[in-house]
Amino acid sequence: MLYHSTRSNENCIDSAQAVLNGLAPDGGLYMPTALPEFDWQACLQGDTYSMATKILAALLPDIPDMEQLVSRAYTGKFAAPDLTPTVPVGDYTVLELFHGPTSAFKDVALCMLPQLLTAAKAEKGMDEKILILTATSGDTGKAALAGFRDVKGVGICVFYPDGGVSKVQRAQMVTQEGNNVAVCAVWGNFDDAQTGVKNIFAACQDGELLRGKSFRLSSANSINIGRLAPQVTYYFKAYRDLLDRKQIAMGDEVNFSVPTGNFGDILAGYLAKLLGLPVGRLICASNANNVLTDFIRTGVYDRKRPLHKTISPSMDILVSSNLERLLYLMSGGDTALVASLMERLNTEGCYTVPEALKSAIEQEFWADCCDDAGARSAICRVWENHGYLCDPHTATGWAVAESYSRQTGDSRPMVVLSTASPYKFPAAVLEAIGGSMDGDEFDQMQTLQTVTGCPIPENLADLRGKPERHTGVIAKEEMLGYVLSL
Ligand SMILES: *Cc1c(COP(=O)(O)O)cnc(C)c1O
Repeated sequence: MLYHSTRSNENCIDSAQAVLNGLAPDGGLYMPTALPEFDWQACLQGDTYSMATKILAALLPDIPDMEQLVSRAYTGKFAAPDLTPTVPVGDYTVLELFHGPTSAFKDVALCMLPQLLTAAKAEKGMDEKILILTATSGDTGKAALAGFRDVKGVGICVFYPDGGVSKVQRAQMVTQEGNNVAVCAVWGNFDDAQTGVKNIFAACQDGELLRGKSFRLSSANSINIGRLAPQVTYYFKAYRDLLDRKQIAMGDEVNFSVPTGNFGDILAGYLAKLLGLPVGRLICASNANNVLTDFIRTGVYDRKRPLHKTISPSMDILVSSNLERLLYLMSGGDTALVASLMERLNTEGCYTVPEALKSAIEQEFWADCCDDAGARSAICRVWENHGYLCDPHTATGWAVAESYSRQTGDSRPMVVLSTASPYKFPAAVLEAIGGSMDGDEFDQMQTLQTVTGCPIPENLADLRGKPERHTGVIAKEEMLGYVLSL
């Protein structure tokens, strides 16, 4: 099985090289030429580790010893032995993806990526060090730091906007331990940090600046197929749980509602379907930044709109990178079409897909959005009716799932993906359930625990007393110098 860019069929490479490269040289994302034959029913028989091994070995066949890599990635890192448990809540099932080391769903992929990257390096005989560069609006940075900490042959450097992340998220990053980690705040907003990182990649492209340095740059965001592939597993795991609870019979279709930002999580659900899993509709849930809702309903993608700051910040995004992979898959691999749409997005800020592509997407996906008031009301409703506490991202997925059920009457079982612990966003959650907002975010975490009786995850409870190790703040113009001095 070979991989090539979503924008061209030329320059095919194997899966190990695709993980090492991250982004294709033409700016496209790597996709396989065809998906492998996959015995999905046999896959469902094993435990989560065995499902992950089978799925990753099928998608990344050139990375050897997958069973060992999976075991190293996850053993002892998650608070739940089956990694991603499901909980029946009212008429729906919640798939909890937040039991990893940083209490966000990105842990599922970012525990695995370092293993895939180091195995791919060994496979290709590459001995240069890799420096992972990441700009974060909160969750990715900490999950990447935790995943890459003290991994041999890899360094990790995270930039976050000064004052632009929550107090809990900042504490998670600035207290990070490890010998290969760097964390630095940047004056400005997330876009400034993100643009700074892109400029560093561009400046280092010709190799001149890095001459004499023994490292090569790479990225940990979800453009890398090595970050996407591990997310396919939990769709299988959720299906297996429904089978075990006799809520479905083998072959019955299940719908999934996914709080969506960069379109990585929900695309993994579509890959699960392409591997054979009986997935019904994939429901794309957005917050007030509803560019994807408009796109899925109208076929017009238009990023020329203001970015709203919401209580679900990990979905505050106007350009969803992984949508490019969907356009590729749904157009039957039409790389010329994808290249021209992406060119239009770059130059004009919007594009319209052909009618056939629009209706193909509508067959598989459904979309709606929910603003902050809607998310708060869902947090409150789910808590009062079912005694289940969810974070603002999950609440968005829940509210949109309800809207789907109401509008379509579709009665197939619904799984709502839960992407963060409510304790990562204590202020928003506490406000939604009407608790006292006294004190700072750490006090609010305690109040939330007292009021609800749900325990604070250990990694968050420990944060307050930890020493701050990374307190630097720089201007965005200084970012390149900072990286070159590492
Ligand atoms: C990243 C993130 C999302 C969005 O996932 P995508 O793969 O970017 O669509 C949703 N919720 C939380 C908590 C996240 O951290």
